[in-house]
Amino acid sequence: MWADSAHTKENATRGHKDVSTLRSLTTPLKISAATLSRLAKLGIHHRADLLLHLPLRYEDETHLAPIATVEPGETVQVQGVITHSEILFKPRRTLVCRLQDASGELYLRFLNFYPSQTKLLAVGNQIRAIGEVRMGYYGLEMVHPKCRAVEDETPLQTSLTPVYPTTAGLSQATLKKLIANALEVFPVTDPLPDFFVDRLNLLGFFASIRLLHNPAPDIPASCLEDKSHAAWRRIKFDELLAQQLSMRVHHRERSQRNAPALPPQKNHTGALLKNLPFALTRAQQKVYAEISLDMAKPHPMQRLLLGDVGSGKTIIAALAALQSIENGYQVALMAPTEILAEQHFLKLSEWLAPLGITPVWLSGSLKKKDKKLAAEMIASGETLLAIGTHALFQEQISFYKLGLAIVDEQHKFGVQQRLALHSKGKMTNIADSTKTKYQEPHQLMMSATPIPRTLAMSYYADLDVSVIDELPPGRTPVITKLVSDVRRDEVFERVRASCIGGQQAYWVCPLIDESEVLQLQNALETHQLLTDTFPELRIGLVHGKMDSAEKVSVMTEFKTGELQLLVATTVIEVGVDVPNASLMVIDHAERMGLAQLHQLRGRVGRGSAQSLCILLYQKPLSELARTRLKVIFENTDGFAIAQQDLQLRGPGELLGARQSGVAMLRFADINADEDLLEQARLVADELLHDYPDAARSYLQRWMANKHDYLHV
Ligand code: ADP
Ligand code: MG
Repeated sequence: MWADSAHTKENATRGHKDVSTLRSLTTPLKISAATLSRLAKLGIHHRADLLLHLPLRYEDETHLAPIATVEPGETVQVQGVITHSEILFKPRRTLVCRLQDASGELYLRFLNFYPSQTKLLAVGNQIRAIGEVRMGYYGLEMVHPKCRAVEDETPLQTSLTPVYPTTAGLSQATLKKLIANALEVFPVTDPLPDFFVDRLNLLGFFASIRLLHNPAPDIPASCLEDKSHAAWRRIKFDELLAQQLSMRVHHRERSQRNAPALPPQKNHTGALLKNLPFALTRAQQKVYAEISLDMAKPHPMQRLLLGDVGSGKTIIAALAALQSIENGYQVALMAPTEILAEQHFLKLSEWLAPLGITPVWLSGSLKKKDKKLAAEMIASGETLLAIGTHALFQEQISFYKLGLAIVDEQHKFGVQQRLALHSKGKMTNIADSTKTKYQEPHQLMMSATPIPRTLAMSYYADLDVSVIDELPPGRTPVITKLVSDVRRDEVFERVRASCIGGQQAYWVCPLIDESEVLQLQNALETHQLLTDTFPELRIGLVHGKMDSAEKVSVMTEFKTGELQLLVATTVIEVGVDVPNASLMVIDHAERMGLAQLHQLRGRVGRGSAQSLCILLYQKPLSELARTRLKVIFENTDGFAIAQQDLQLRGPGELLGARQSGVAMLRFADINADEDLLEQARLVADELLHDYPDAARSYLQRWMANKHDYLHV
């Protein structure tokens, strides 16, 4: 296996990785502590890491271009003699040299330079320079080319030259030397059993590594750059395989941990369902059955409930909560904003009060005394249902016996908050007659940000996923209109007419350069303007800086119809449910992301009335903004929108909070490499089953240090 003894030992002492360990691992190189710490910055801790420190790109130093033939925009290598060299002081200190070969001449320019460079580029020296050519003030020039002194007979490189990602103080040459050394001492066995290599028609692992560090001259640079070469495919496959393995191992570990078994009890559930003014959709019934089954098991559930905006996730949360409560176990329901948490509090109170269950409310803005009271009720087990913001998972709050934690709009929470939630469960120790058993709560995470298939198969593969794939009946799809800002007055008039006609409307104020202060100012001004323009309308305002009581009272007024128009910042983005509202104006829609636009638009179209969403935009539109508006205009299905979002932004941003918790892929791209992802999934199962040692060494190699975070 490719874990040599030093590597294995290193893993055994994981967490105590210090410079001396690193040094012992790289002893043959005799490198300085400074270099070691720079390597560590790049995530290189031992020789094996060096092998996987693969080039960012390649430079072609295999031939020389006659200067007369080069064109602006090309990256080329030229060779000639310096015929002129001077240091200019205006507009700033610059070294300018002229390089001449038999065919022509070009300029080399350096803005920051050392005396050694001045010496190297002195008149009469023969120089080889590589860099991008552009049209400069004096003619063709290269800015900061890579230069070296050569003789007539200095040989050219025979293969493409790798350029590695690096950090300040660590030269390409040093990296190259270290990597070359690592390549020499490494074993040649493939980490993947031959059987798979043959079946999947993969290039050997070490052959691939060698090739990528030292590509043969006949390999076209393009297929190395776009990572389509078989060697890249092999590396990407292995990376995806490691990801699959780690997700699966995590999943398996979970089934060995303890949680209270909370089987469904029919009485209360039946009563709740009977009291509802609607019947569950087929999709809701399906996901409820999945959740219910999980909770009945003595192992912690970690299920992600996905459902487009308005698909009816809240009632599922209530049903799950009831199942825990009926078994005598507490439930915590957490939402990312006070408005949403409060709304859940009201909704669940309404549904559960007839069954004798009263939730307790907890949020950061609660008065100290009330917070203490709530905390006491939670700690004593007097209350079985706590609803609130992330305040629920702060240190001071300890649960008597937590059976289920529900996190709504989970993508809005940070990794730290979810880690805190995890530890709440661990603190719940229940003494049965013989021993103290540590139990974790079941976890239900809900999100309206649909996860595209490839993301679900990769980054979320450790969770179980339930999908509500239909909307409740009787909804009329929202009509979306794109309206240029120059027609703002018409939009005003439209809002007025709708409100006079008995409809309710939202006016969503723009995001302003991520500045909350300006956003608030804009909301205040918009509210003032609308109030002045339409004295006949009852207009409310809600924004993030209001205290929670104010927010709640405004939302209640809007819900009961006292307010006809609600001016809001993006605080209403998630979860807000006022079925009567049927018109939404999103001001400066071009500034918002796709997920956000979809969420906002989801605030209307919740009742049976025809709803309209007006996206007010201001020109000029960037290419990205134009694409986003087109996508949101043409699609209503959240999954289709998320898929396009993934393509526009890449997984990093779409993963949101999860991003910082899960090891990101360095080489593979889940969109472009979907076929490899599929293969890796299949191989992961077989490997775990038939070749556990190989599976383990993959995990050590690719996932060392990143495992803890998977537990969120
Ligand atoms: P989301 O999935 O966005 O959280 P909600 O739970 O807020 O959606 O539900 C949206 C609206 O649909 C609410 O007013 C809710 O009461 C209603 N609703 C939920 N399920 C059904 C159903 N099966 N039939 C009719 N209306 C439903
Ligand atoms: Mg919701």
